[in-house]
Amino acid sequence: MAEQDPFELAQDLSGKHLIDGAFVPSQSGKTFDVIYPATLEVIGKAAFGEKADVDAAVAAAKKAQKAWAALPARERGKLVTECGRRIEAHKEELARLVALETGKALRTESRVEASVVADAFTFYGGLASELKGESVPFNPDMLTVTLREPIGVVGAIIPWNVPMMLMAFKIAPAMVAGNTVVVKSAEEAPFAVLRVCEIMNEVLPPGVFNILSGFGPECGAPLVEHPDVGKVTFTGSVETGKIIYRGAAEKLMPVTLELGGKSPMIVMGDADLERAVAGAVSGVRFTRQGQSCTAASRIYVHESLHDAFIEALKAKVDAMVMGDPLDEKTDIGTIVSEQQYERVLGYITQGKADGGTAHEGSSLPGDGKLAKGYFVRPVIFTDLPEDSRVISEEIFGPVTAIQRFSTLDEVIDKANDSEYGLAATIWTRDLKTAMEGVRRLEAGFVQVNQNLVVQPNLSYGGIKQSGLGKEASLEAMLEHFTHKKTAIINMT
Ligand code: NAD
Repeated sequence: MAEQDPFELAQDLSGKHLIDGAFVPSQSGKTFDVIYPATLEVIGKAAFGEKADVDAAVAAAKKAQKAWAALPARERGKLVTECGRRIEAHKEELARLVALETGKALRTESRVEASVVADAFTFYGGLASELKGESVPFNPDMLTVTLREPIGVVGAIIPWNVPMMLMAFKIAPAMVAGNTVVVKSAEEAPFAVLRVCEIMNEVLPPGVFNILSGFGPECGAPLVEHPDVGKVTFTGSVETGKIIYRGAAEKLMPVTLELGGKSPMIVMGDADLERAVAGAVSGVRFTRQGQSCTAASRIYVHESLHDAFIEALKAKVDAMVMGDPLDEKTDIGTIVSEQQYERVLGYITQGKADGGTAHEGSSLPGDGKLAKGYFVRPVIFTDLPEDSRVISEEIFGPVTAIQRFSTLDEVIDKANDSEYGLAATIWTRDLKTAMEGVRRLEAGFVQVNQNLVVQPNLSYGGIKQSGLGKEASLEAMLEHFTHKKTAIINMT
């Protein structure tokens, strides 16, 4: 199949929401610029969604919901699986488009995301027959059963770092469960998700999914507040998550919140050094400029390996190629926006002011078209005081801080001394130490001797300030996108 040029695709998708199966402009006619963060070229203009557009999208979703829910679950599942099949056929084009709007390197990041998107649709499509209730042994004269029923209209609000994947993890289970959805895309990355929806539109009835582009206060907030939206599923910052939670409280509406993190990586003295160093490169997610909620942004290395680990990590990072995200040679792309770029540089300045030693790896791509791009060299901080904000706050950039430790108790206390609890890793050859880490680390996702593998069948979500509820897995579909109804049938 001929792949369309991503620049042309961004132009084609400009100025449009997808509501009730049709591309429509914003009712106000307003748009906003979307840029390629490697060159700051404007690649297209996204429709600027506001309350009137939210009202239209929710009305379409509400109108479609009863007929959608009335389909046999396996029919819905087959249609969602078919969406996955078609998305798979377009994955190269989607990868190029998401690389263009986010600056994520095509080879190391954007292609990986596009593959997981198709997988999420086929996984959930296949789970349709698991929308089962239970029978309860309550009274021999009464048949007592539980039923799983859809909530109705689900609002999904997503960030820009892995926009297609996070949208898929929300809307595929929601739709299979019989809900209809309205998505609010991230203002930085509206086009790849819109293209995914255009592909879905070949398969699904109008109104079952609808997607709006726009900003949080103008487009996200009216979606949360809308009386016909029965659930909101959100991924983004803690700050926005709390605003959404407050809005949901007004309506007593359930929410799922996938928020930030400050994930610790613990390298014990008996760890395989080479493997742990490779794990740090992928764990900090340098290839995505550290723009990952599970980034290993605090690395604790046992004193016996500390110096060797740092030298080996520096060498690896220095060898990485930073450059045009669309170039096959590039390992590391750009930061997504000026705001994030300034924020990340602010933390690097802060770390140096706090007395940290910063090793800046790789090298900037140089002059020419890329000179203005939001490139930040990977930074490995050592010697930071423990109260530095670089150690406690989420940076969402290519920055990690390495600290030494002596004992397991000491390092677990340090790792748990965080307001976040999303992910953690521990690297050791000792089974008992591994199990202690799994048991004692306060995080929703703990891994031993490897880094996060996001899969649709693995339940995923944080504790503490990292969020509420789980995403991915069968459990997410049942617990977060259905109501459980109890029915008693008195047979006497
Ligand atoms: P953000 O909270 O600024 O924005 C996320 C989304 O919320 C965007 O679509 C935005 O337009 C919308 N929004 C903003 N204000 C809103 C409001 N008042 N009402 C409704 N919607 C509103 O986050 P971001 O900067 O785009 O993303 C980065 C954050 O996302 C990081 O903190 C990161 O850790 C987190 N994240 C978490 C996960 C996870 O699974 N836990 C995954 C990826 C990213």
